[in-house]
Amino acid sequence: MAECDVVVIGGGHNGLVTAGYLAKAGARVVVLERRPIVGGACVTEEPWPGFRINTFAYASGLLRPKIVDELELVRFGYDPILCDPQGFVPEPDGRSLTFWLDEQKEQREIAKFSKKDAEAYPRYIRYWDDVLDVIEPAMMAPPMPLDQFFQKFAPGQAERLLRDLFLRSARDFLDDWFESPELKGVLAQSASIGTFAGPYTPGTAYVLGHHNIGRLGEHRRVWGHSRGGMGTITQAMARAATHFGASVRTGVGVRSILVEGGRAVGVETTDGTTLRARAVASSIDARQTLLDLLPTGTVEPSIERRLTRIRAEGACLKFNAALDGIPKFTAAPGPEVLAGAVGIAPSMEYLEHAFDDAKFGDFSREPSMDIYFQSLVDPSVAPPGKHTMTCFVQYAPTRLRAGSWDDAREMVAERVLSTLEEYAPGIRKLVRHWQVITPKDIETILGMPGGNIDQGDITPDQIFSLRPIPGWSNYRTPVPGLYLCGSAAHPGGGVIGAPGHNAAGVVIQDLREPTGAS
Ligand SMILES: Cc1cc2nc3c(=O)[nH]c(=O)nc-3n(C[C@H](O)[C@H](O)[C@H](O)COP(=O)(O)OP(=O)(O)OC[C@H]3O[C@@H](n4cnc5c(N)ncnc54)[C@H](O)[C@@H]3O)c2cc1C
Repeated sequence: MAECDVVVIGGGHNGLVTAGYLAKAGARVVVLERRPIVGGACVTEEPWPGFRINTFAYASGLLRPKIVDELELVRFGYDPILCDPQGFVPEPDGRSLTFWLDEQKEQREIAKFSKKDAEAYPRYIRYWDDVLDVIEPAMMAPPMPLDQFFQKFAPGQAERLLRDLFLRSARDFLDDWFESPELKGVLAQSASIGTFAGPYTPGTAYVLGHHNIGRLGEHRRVWGHSRGGMGTITQAMARAATHFGASVRTGVGVRSILVEGGRAVGVETTDGTTLRARAVASSIDARQTLLDLLPTGTVEPSIERRLTRIRAEGACLKFNAALDGIPKFTAAPGPEVLAGAVGIAPSMEYLEHAFDDAKFGDFSREPSMDIYFQSLVDPSVAPPGKHTMTCFVQYAPTRLRAGSWDDAREMVAERVLSTLEEYAPGIRKLVRHWQVITPKDIETILGMPGGNIDQGDITPDQIFSLRPIPGWSNYRTPVPGLYLCGSAAHPGGGVIGAPGHNAAGVVIQDLREPTGAS
């Protein structure tokens, strides 16, 4: 006899979204999260008194507005802040590029580097708006086969998109649009976020698109903060799920998935308790779910082989710090330009060189960075007069060629700070506390394989109907009653909520109409 309808493994944002939708539909749901807090990669912690740090994910915007509305996340505490400017990019020669929300102001900034690029920029924005009009809805439903997906575009447009987004590198794509190395450098940064690939790698143009889907209010392609830190998003999700009737339990890991008669019928927890359910939805990656948690031999060898071939390598690390003040960037006219991201990405060549180091097992000698000083626009995250700084740093391979990540923290801090000193002299003296979150930490703390932030690269060979593996992309798995609801499934990673939303729909459908298919 099932004790509940659905057990959700993992209380990251997707597990919570799944639980929220299932509970709202009337299912009896239990979420089991092995960490003492919910949120997975979307948490805010207090490593130093008064400083609320986004340990992992640090910028919001990808979360689908439909989910915010339907789970009533604002009512439960989610309070988004839109950044303006969106980004500030200091250049090594002392110039800078600021991305304002106002398109004309933004164009004037780009014109400092190239008048031609400034003219092309609005066309580039419209190009993305057209593409995203098709991609965004496709993200909020189980994936259709790729040939059908391309039929959604206007005749002629499909072929161009196939070439642009699926076959081309970010470099080739951006070279078609722009001439200024500075503009292309910062745009290309989004083409490799969390992905073990450089801008010269084919397929990275799609990764750029994935990170363009941000929406806050009326604004598209934008990023922002969640007041109080990223963790307030998942706190709101947990409150919503609980409000709709789910039970969210922390400090309870799942050791194995119970299978009877070939069907998933519950889980065994790390303390040896069993919990029986009509269905199990796992928000951890596909490989661990199907190969580590299921009894050996449950999955047939051909599928097992494909699961072990999913590419999920680390690409980044975090350098998080508590500051005694806001650093002065030589190129910044004033601190107001630091309200959004500060990008260290002077050119595509710079990014590719950074990747070259990691390709062969080293932390980049000259890393690229995406930096936020959230306290500047949200004082609730730091004591009065103090500030937070989170640096998302690339590239950091899963394994170092020499030595271990645990021994590399001082080296990483030194390299990050000396890079920053070139743009903001004196920043080092403002650092009161720091922490380095390595790919190994990401893997160990969250269970993300290889420290890959998306539970598997979101490159064209691993998206839509190819995610997590061809043939099993609709949240169902080869084991009836077992579903994937995390970033490992379509449409992939980021605090986007779509995998959880889509998986919940499939589980609800199967609970209502059990067909034996799953
Ligand atoms: C360093 C870093 C920076 C990032 N930056 C951003 C960003 O700025 N913006 C953005 O949108 N996205 C960002 N991302 C990506 C995004 O945060 C993730 O893709 C997303 O949060 C993953 O959500 P999830 O629910 O699918 O998985 P997870 O967040 O990984 O949740 C899975 C949960 O399962 C738990 N778990 C694992 N094993 C078990 C088990 N056996 N039993 C029970 N529980 C278990 C884990 O503890 C975890 O809580 C970042 C990620 C990282 C790591």
